[in-house]
Amino acid sequence: MDQEKTGKFIAACRKDMGLTQAALAEKLGITDRAVSKWETGRSLPDASIMIELCGILGISVNELLTGGKIAMENYKEIAEKNLADISELEKDKNTKLTKAEFFIGLSGVFISLIMVVCGLFIAASEPFVSIFLCISGGITAIVFEFYAVLLERDSGYYECQNCRNRYVPSKKAVIFSVHYGSDRVLKCPECSKKCWHKKVITK
Ligand SMILES: [Zn+2]
Repeated sequence: MDQEKTGKFIAACRKDMGLTQAALAEKLGITDRAVSKWETGRSLPDASIMIELCGILGISVNELLTGGKIAMENYKEIAEKNLADISELEKDKNTKLTKAEFFIGLSGVFISLIMVVCGLFIAASEPFVSIFLCISGGITAIVFEFYAVLLERDSGYYECQNCRNRYVPSKKAVIFSVHYGSDRVLKCPECSKKCWHKKVITK
């Protein structure tokens, strides 16, 4: 599978349909950065939204993965190879992201804890260094958790528990939402209800 070829094909089909990257992203309920990443060959659309994407672009999933129109006689053979490739890629990507999120979250807690503990330890002898270390520890924790949350947002979708709509919320919505684990309270764009959303890997 050639991601770059697929990317160029997506861009060409999108332009044929008279859509901007932002317009296509909105139709799919994803970010326009994701569309841009497909088109430059840096990533492939998730298997779960491929059908919807192909529907909008008026092509088959098989053609999307191959990166061009396919002659009927080769169709089945190419389809099977594409399908095997894609499920391997998707599994790989989500596992990597989840691992990265966990690692970043954990190292953030660890590094900031060390800074604060060192700060408190020298509080009596070096009060200014101590304050500096405690504040830096706090900032470190915030920066790392912030990044972990953005990674969480990138590794799948959130499902509204009221209407079952699955989508990628804005960064701001995710960062400022109340959460329990990776479940978050968000305002659903489909039913407009503010309720719990479950993290899901596929659309
Ligand atoms: Zn909803």
